[in-house]
Amino acid sequence: MHSQTPLKYRELAAGAVKDSQLHRALGMMRDKVGRNAVNLYNQIAPGQDSRRAAKAVRSRIVDNLDVVLETLTENIRARGGQVYLADTGADAVEYCLQVARRHQVRRVVKGKSMLSEEICLNPALEAAGIETVETDLGEYIVQLKGEAPSHIIAPAIHYTREQVGALFAEKLGEPYTDDPPSLTAMARKALREKMLTADMGISGGNTACAETGHVTIVSNEGNIRMTSTMPRVHIVLLGIEKIAATLEDHDILLRMLTRAAAGQKISTYISYVGGPRLPDEPDGPEEFHLVLVDNGRSRILADPDFREVLHCVRCGGCLNVCPVYLNIGGHSYGSPYCGPIGAVFTPLTRGIGECSHLCQGETLCGACKQVCPVDNDLPRMLSLLRAKLADGDPKWDVLPQSRAAKLAFTAWSLVMSRRGLYDALRGLARMGQRLLPRRDGWIVRLPGPLGGWTRGRDFPPLAEESFGERWARRNRDGRDA
Ligand code: SF4
Repeated sequence: MHSQTPLKYRELAAGAVKDSQLHRALGMMRDKVGRNAVNLYNQIAPGQDSRRAAKAVRSRIVDNLDVVLETLTENIRARGGQVYLADTGADAVEYCLQVARRHQVRRVVKGKSMLSEEICLNPALEAAGIETVETDLGEYIVQLKGEAPSHIIAPAIHYTREQVGALFAEKLGEPYTDDPPSLTAMARKALREKMLTADMGISGGNTACAETGHVTIVSNEGNIRMTSTMPRVHIVLLGIEKIAATLEDHDILLRMLTRAAAGQKISTYISYVGGPRLPDEPDGPEEFHLVLVDNGRSRILADPDFREVLHCVRCGGCLNVCPVYLNIGGHSYGSPYCGPIGAVFTPLTRGIGECSHLCQGETLCGACKQVCPVDNDLPRMLSLLRAKLADGDPKWDVLPQSRAAKLAFTAWSLVMSRRGLYDALRGLARMGQRLLPRRDGWIVRLPGPLGGWTRGRDFPPLAEESFGERWARRNRDGRDA
């Protein structure tokens, strides 16, 4: 479901660009969550410093990840939990299957784990004959539909309530309604029964704290409380980078995460888990497993140019402001991590050449950096990925993508660094553009390979007088141009 070619990306994106319902849904997300998040940032005094503090915390943790991971492991084991470090996604899946087989698990309830999407856990569980039920409302909706999530924290953001009503009527046999509380009640009824009879719970984690030995899971629906406490076994899947060293670091990150993710000061439920039920505790699993998943993260960690991407706390904030994501939606990316973070993270873990379309599809407008709670410089990393595609990089197994593109960019660089040549070509282009078809003053079709630009939008013609020429004239004439 998540592998994709550049051609498929273009096809899906072209379809999504025309989907006005998708744009309405994503626009609401942008307006509501984006604005709330900025307001809440500003309430932390002084707003900008909080992002710097969070960035410094993440940077310190990622730079000392080996020590932090060891402390977390020791503390979880000391409380009776089991910890497994999975090198690859396949290792993590196999570990989950082994635990499930040992406990003769027939039904798994899940929640809040994009990582399980990354490692394709659900199909493996289903293939082993284990019923796997998502318990987060959005994840449940996309699962009923047979789709992947389309947003990191709002998996079913692309659906209207009317569509959800029709889906529940079809799949759950309920009478049609588009009333949100009634729809929620229907999902609750269906899921409650699954939770009560599940043998195993699997969840993700938003962050862990090495000092205390616990994993923190943020939710707004209470499903995680049930997933993590009612079944006999609980497995938490966590990327090796999603750890805080101390409780103080953990609190800084949590405060920024909930603001950026949902525009909330704090989420409705925060679950802290870190081991099996103790003898005097009324609930909790009999067995607790923490699966720490590497799956390409160590390779990123080893490269100082890209290490910063591991600072990400997966809040989804960069998606809500990205003009590309807001136009093409999450499914076009063909990766559980969509939007700007996906355009950097997915190529690094799956192959830069194989996922070239993702980093080439972004605009480099910089909005993602502005909103990121840990000030991740995604535009810098996107540019670097593009440079590797142009020049090749044996360290990352990237072959130069296209001789023609390389030649074009070399020529471009030559022109841009020679003023006389630039001016001469600009003069020629001004004359040449008179031959191109126009509508309302805009060029509607560029020639040759440049035609890709005008396939979906018009092109502004070169001004008859450039800024440089106006400036020179103004200085020459000694008056406003
Ligand atoms: S890059 Fe920043 S804004 Fe985007 S998901 Fe990660 S933490 Fe959130």
